Amino acid sequence: MASKEIPYKIYLEESEMPTAWYNLRADMKVKPAPLLNPQTLKPASLDELSAVFCRELAEQELNDTDPYIPIPEEIRSFYKMYRPSPLVRAYCLEKKLGTPAKIYYKFEGNNTSGSHKLNSAIAQAYYAKKQGLRGVTTETGAGQWGTALSMACSYFDLDCKVFMVKVSYEQKPFRREVMRTYGASVTPSPSETTAIGRKILAEHPGTGGSLGCAVSEAVECAVSNDGYRYVLGSVLNQVLLHQSVIGLETKAALDKYGIKADVIIGCAGGGSNLGGLIAPFVGEQLRGEANYRFVAVEPASCPSLTRGKFAYDYADTGMICPLAKMYTIGADYIPAPNHAGGLRYHGMNGTLSELRHQGILDAVSYTQTDVFSAAVEFARVEGILPAPESSHAIRAAIDEALRCKETGKEETIVFGLTGTGYFDLYGYQKFNDGLLETYIPSDEELAKSLEKLPKVNG
Ligand SMILES: *Cc1c(COP(=O)(O)O)cnc(C)c1O
Repeated sequence: MASKEIPYKIYLEESEMPTAWYNLRADMKVKPAPLLNPQTLKPASLDELSAVFCRELAEQELNDTDPYIPIPEEIRSFYKMYRPSPLVRAYCLEKKLGTPAKIYYKFEGNNTSGSHKLNSAIAQAYYAKKQGLRGVTTETGAGQWGTALSMACSYFDLDCKVFMVKVSYEQKPFRREVMRTYGASVTPSPSETTAIGRKILAEHPGTGGSLGCAVSEAVECAVSNDGYRYVLGSVLNQVLLHQSVIGLETKAALDKYGIKADVIIGCAGGGSNLGGLIAPFVGEQLRGEANYRFVAVEPASCPSLTRGKFAYDYADTGMICPLAKMYTIGADYIPAPNHAGGLRYHGMNGTLSELRHQGILDAVSYTQTDVFSAAVEFARVEGILPAPESSHAIRAAIDEALRCKETGKEETIVFGLTGTGYFDLYGYQKFNDGLLETYIPSDEELAKSLEKLPKVNG
């Protein structure tokens, strides 16, 4: 049997690594709706975007025609320090589940930041440096993005100011120290250092913060400091573009062994790892070359794709960033605390939202308890201690494999294992002690939040 010859880990050679990112939007007949300027509510121009973002990144944000964008050599050499990442055949998990399904996962946790976020951090830091900037500002939820960006900034000698969602800042002091070790400054958000932070603190005293309000603080800090721009680790199309390196490597590894995936699964916060993982496969499907099932997995406590509305919304609580048409539960909605901090964002990337709207992308949601039980099951047989975010994809992959067990179908399941969970042991502790809380917002609660969506046509 051919499957016997497939190694536990499929590694690519350095020479097989992608030389260009793949821009999925180029192959979409119906393109994602344009970003809107938050003041004029007209499509955001390159100049307007360049006031907040680095110029070349703004160009990438607006580019929906070029299918391939070359990866600059400086970025490729950084990639080579921790890439290609392995595509692992989960033989032990398959055996444990007794499933006829074949399970593969693309592991992105093999770098100090512990997640896929470094793939975009290094690209964004590169373009900031190339533009001659002094530094960048950003937000971080669970801390992975801030860590990745501080690594990338220290590599290119850029200043890095991180606004970290307060609950994470308190729960994950060691993440903060990793960032500071790489030279970044870290401020808990909401903070007194920005106007929007002070406003949010006045309205919600004692709040643990949210990604949306940390974004607003970081943007304010960038636009009020000379030589700074704001960078974002998820949600934007440029981030999906950089993360396509995950999907391109996955496809190359599968092709190398003649493996055809049936189902491709990824966890979805702002959508960057999922978008990057599925991009080349969605491209094939859009061009009529193959068929796949694509599944987004999100927390039940922050259900943008499964229970949100497809509409224009603000990307941040402060309404400074451009508006995007996306699945959203409302920019003002502050999701209940969840140990998968990287998935606590109110909206979903516009390209993925459009794919969902077109029926190409499925979505499911799980509670924290479901997710941690999958994480533990996976860790015990596959060895890797997964991040809670990644464990959403594990949960869905296990459930898919169990369905195959019932139907006897030998499906090939591929999922993205976005990172490791060494900084999430507080969550694991709660789970091990049986104290993990689950929260599912009521319909009324979501409806109330959605009432506040901006009144924009489209
Ligand atoms: C940030 C993060 C995510 C979610 O972000 P996306 O942009 O949706 O990919 C998932 N997993 C890990 C480990 C993360 O750090």
